[in-house]
Amino acid sequence: MRRVDAAEVDALLPQTQCTRCGYSGCRPYAEAVASGAAALNQCPPGGAALIARLAALLDLAPLPLNPNHGIEAPARLAWIDPQECIGCARCLPPCPVDAILGTARALHTVMPSWCTGCELCVAACPVDCIRMQPWPAAAPPPSSTDNRRRYLAREARHAATAADRENELRQLKRRAAPDTGAPP
Ligand code: SF4
Ligand code: SF4
Ligand code: SF4
Repeated sequence: MRRVDAAEVDALLPQTQCTRCGYSGCRPYAEAVASGAAALNQCPPGGAALIARLAALLDLAPLPLNPNHGIEAPARLAWIDPQECIGCARCLPPCPVDAILGTARALHTVMPSWCTGCELCVAACPVDCIRMQPWPAAAPPPSSTDNRRRYLAREARHAATAADRENELRQLKRRAAPDTGAPP
C-alpha cells in the first residue's frame, strides 16, 4: 500500500457525510483509509468508481463494494410531504449540509440542490413524512466540492456556537463565585 495523505483520499470521496462507511463522515473515513485502518470498499455512494480511484491512489487491488455498508444505487434526494409535516424541527440537526429549511411549528422543506441524499434526516422524523426520491434527470446532484464546503461551514458554525456557550458559562460562573479578594 502506498503512503498517502488523508486529504488525498478525502478529495476523492463523495462528501455526502452519510456515515454508511461506519465513520462519522467522509474525512474520518479518509483518515482511516490513508492509515490502513479501513478498507477501500466501504463507501456505497462512491461505489465501484470510487473503489477504482482509491485502488489506483493507494496502489492496492480493487475490491467489490462491501455489502455490509450498503449497495450502490442511483442518487436520491429527500422530499418532505407538506401535508404531514408537524414542524417539530427534529430533522434539522442531523442534516450535514443545512439542506432543510424551517423553524419550530412551521412547515419544513428540503432545498433540493443542497441535498446530498445522505438519508440522515429520515430516521429523525417522528411522523415519517420525509421520503427519498430519485434525482430528476434534468438536474445533477450537488458536487462533492459543494457538499464539503457546506458541511465545513456547518461544522464551523457549530464550533463557534459551542465556543460562545462555553464563554457565556465561564462568565456566569465567575459572576456567581464569591469574591475572595484573590486575583482572578
Ligand atoms: S459518502 Fe458516506 S460512506 Fe462515503 S465516505 Fe462519506 S460518509 Fe462514508
Ligand atoms: S435533507 Fe436529509 S437526505 Fe438531504 S442532505 Fe439533509 S439530511 Fe441528508
Ligand atoms: S422531522 Fe418530520 S415532521 Fe418534524 S419538521 Fe422535519 S419533516 Fe416535519
